[in-house]
Amino acid sequence: MREAAEAQVMPGTDLPRAANATEPLLRVEGLKKYFPIEKGFLRRRTGVIKAVDGVSIEVMPGETVGLVGESGSGKTTLGRCVMRGLRATEGSIEFKVDGRYVDMNALTGRELQPIRKHIQMVFQDPYTSLDPRMTVLEIVGEPLVYGLNAKRAQVEKRVKELMDVVGLSTRHINRYPHAFSGGQRQRIGIARAIATNPSLIVADEPVSALDVSIQAQILNLLVELQERLGLAYLFVAHDLSVVEHISDRVAVMYVGQLVEQAKTEDLFSAPQHPYTEALLSAVPRPDPHRKMDRIVLRGDVANPADPPSGCYFHPRCRYAQDICSVEKPALREIKPGHHAACHFSETLDLQGVS
Ligand code: SF4
Repeated sequence: MREAAEAQVMPGTDLPRAANATEPLLRVEGLKKYFPIEKGFLRRRTGVIKAVDGVSIEVMPGETVGLVGESGSGKTTLGRCVMRGLRATEGSIEFKVDGRYVDMNALTGRELQPIRKHIQMVFQDPYTSLDPRMTVLEIVGEPLVYGLNAKRAQVEKRVKELMDVVGLSTRHINRYPHAFSGGQRQRIGIARAIATNPSLIVADEPVSALDVSIQAQILNLLVELQERLGLAYLFVAHDLSVVEHISDRVAVMYVGQLVEQAKTEDLFSAPQHPYTEALLSAVPRPDPHRKMDRIVLRGDVANPADPPSGCYFHPRCRYAQDICSVEKPALREIKPGHHAACHFSETLDLQGVS
């Protein structure tokens, strides 16, 4: 038992684990997460908020899939469902562990325990995600103790290795989170996330609470760790410029649904959905010759408790036609590997960024 735990807490190999993999590591099918709206003393159900409404998405081993959308699009809820921090209302979350798929959404809390070490999370806010009463040794070592039954000496050795891997001093393992800057705290969060050698990390807006000057350092660290450990990321962000440099593929969400999904380069250079075009128009570019007008979207994201008829985006879409308020467009393949949910993807000439 001790040997087994010791072997498991050793650092990962220096090679990507599944460079030639043909099967997804994560396969989400038809995922729905509805929150009931209850009113009155008797908590009578008066409706539902469809935070995630029928999303299917895959992540290959060693791949980064960026999940983007405005606040309220359902991307964070989807990430939490994948982690089983929230139980999805419907659908499956098939995760490949030891060569076989397990449906995370169907597992009980007890059945989930041995899976947890394979799938970890990096949180948005490094100021609130670390327990201020715990030392770095305790914070980073906790998943080793509960996930791998590691003993104190093993934990200390591994935590020191992890501090080194994420660029922090091994001398600081007995300090508390308040002694660190925001960027250093996020490095501690990342060290904790990779402690058990997971194959998938769900990163929920991991740089949005940080100074711009620190964001690039953390993104570079995530890329470096991916190359070294063969990690896959489901990278949740509201900012397309952040996902551009880290993602192999990008999925765009709007009111709980996927509206576009493609390889990063294809989605940025030739978007097929007007919502993506609008998001791209807000991406800052250093090129002064670039001519792309900022598309200002009218109004807010639609209410997921009472979405518009037809295409949910139609009240804000500058290309909307009569059919758009009546018929809901299906997510379909427009070009190989490029999916969009718009009636007019083939005829619209949407602007991308090079
Ligand atoms: Fe706009 Fe219509 Fe396409 Fe929806 S279906 S994105 S409203 S053009």
